[in-house]
Amino acid sequence: MSIYILVPILLGILAGLVVNYLADVLPFTLRLSRPVCTNPECQKPFAWSAYLLMQPCGTCAKRRGGRAFAVLLWCAISALYLWFSYPARLGYALSFIVLIYLYSVAVIDLEHRLILRPLSIAGLILTAVTGTVLHGWFSTLIGGLAGFAIMYIFYLFGKLFTRRRARRLGQDPLEMEEALGSGDVTLATILGLFLGWPLIWFGLLLGVLVGGLISLLIVMIMILVQRKRKEQALMTFFPLGPAYIFSAILLVYLPNWIGSGLPG
Ligand SMILES: [Zn+2]
Repeated sequence: MSIYILVPILLGILAGLVVNYLADVLPFTLRLSRPVCTNPECQKPFAWSAYLLMQPCGTCAKRRGGRAFAVLLWCAISALYLWFSYPARLGYALSFIVLIYLYSVAVIDLEHRLILRPLSIAGLILTAVTGTVLHGWFSTLIGGLAGFAIMYIFYLFGKLFTRRRARRLGQDPLEMEEALGSGDVTLATILGLFLGWPLIWFGLLLGVLVGGLISLLIVMIMILVQRKRKEQALMTFFPLGPAYIFSAILLVYLPNWIGSGLPG
């Protein structure tokens, strides 16, 4: 094994630190602020060195969450995989940057069910550029428009459905969790630019299937293990954003795994 293998692993760990940092500060301050302790009774700012070295909080000694370590490991594995097999047209650097961007969006969506505005704007620019490199400006443009249009229609239906269900259960519609947030419309636009037309169709379909499968698993686990009432379990939604991101990553970075029967 060559020593050069250390390069992507180190790059992956650095990228993991970036993903953790964005997920730790952006949802709370919307800017690149100093990370603070997650213990609600402490909330003291971290020393940068302690933060980057993954040490516990210097004030209350609370350890960093499992996510921080999982992200580092996952990013290192991804960087290593990409080192040997990146989309040739995009090159290693751009492929890696988009992947790290998508990971950041997915982690924040999973934890906060939010797709933040600064990340949305950055993502639209990044995927407009990389989409054009991958499949030309026309496919990129149509892909983005299609992603937006498809998800906007779903969003309107989702809103209607949530409102009806809330009325039937006699609850305030605003208090109910929405099956589909407006952030998903932005995300579908971003992924549409990146995947291009017609691949975005397949990407969104695959995302719905993956998201549905995960939701089903979560509902089953909740009913079986936690013995929650069925209605209660069915109220929980798995955010679809990470599922769309997952399917887009599969399509662009692991195309051979999906097989050759794709449109486009
Ligand atoms: Zn603390």
